[in-house]
Amino acid sequence: NGVRVAIDGPSGSGKSSVSKKVAAHLGIGYLDTGAMYRALTWYCLDAGIDLDDTEAVADAVAAMPLEMGTDPKAPSVSMGGKPIDADIRTTRIAEVVSKVATNLAVRPKLQQRQRDLMREIAASSGGVVAEGRDVTTVVAPDADVRILMVASEEARLARRSKEVHGGVDETMLAATRAQIVDRDKADSTVSSFMTAADGVVTLDTSELTFQQSVEAVLTLVER
Ligand code: C5P
Repeated sequence: NGVRVAIDGPSGSGKSSVSKKVAAHLGIGYLDTGAMYRALTWYCLDAGIDLDDTEAVADAVAAMPLEMGTDPKAPSVSMGGKPIDADIRTTRIAEVVSKVATNLAVRPKLQQRQRDLMREIAASSGGVVAEGRDVTTVVAPDADVRILMVASEEARLARRSKEVHGGVDETMLAATRAQIVDRDKADSTVSSFMTAADGVVTLDTSELTFQQSVEAVLTLVER
């Protein structure tokens, strides 16, 4: 029914770009579970749902008309036919998405949806690479390949800083540290993506180039 690959890790570990490249190389589907937390956050703000109303936000999981486009060469996120890819990457969303991701009434519902999606994509596309924070442990502990992608704080900050701010300097590093390291610390209280669970392979990309990281994952998938 298609290979299922689960990749977890903190921001800046390289998991998003590597996951997409691996899926494209293998000609299989791609699922960004973090984008689903972002999409839910966007939906609630758009619908005027108070993010502190944990039950209302949890109810929104079933109500939102979310469509995940799973082509790794052009992944997309739409809500009721409206593309929201750019909208969910704004700082407005980044600043509050933790509230939704740490909502314990939300998680099981979104996790079930992700579990179902992984199976559907794997069946229709010959396989799937799904990335996030709890895919190896909760969404798909039975995945064929499970990887925890890690990198030193220094490497993660430098990558994110380049991505988000276009370069690396002290001010940018400070801004990035506030955005990703602190957020990951807050989020790791609900899913422990900083240490590998039993049977999960840890891949440290601190000293690896992008291409080397892709090859390391492909080796694990193909063996
Ligand atoms: O990876 P990304 O930044 O898009 O994740 C958005 C938010 O969703 C983050 O707060 C992250 O910790 C959370 N998340 C999660 N579980 C996942 C994927 C992301 O809690 N499987």
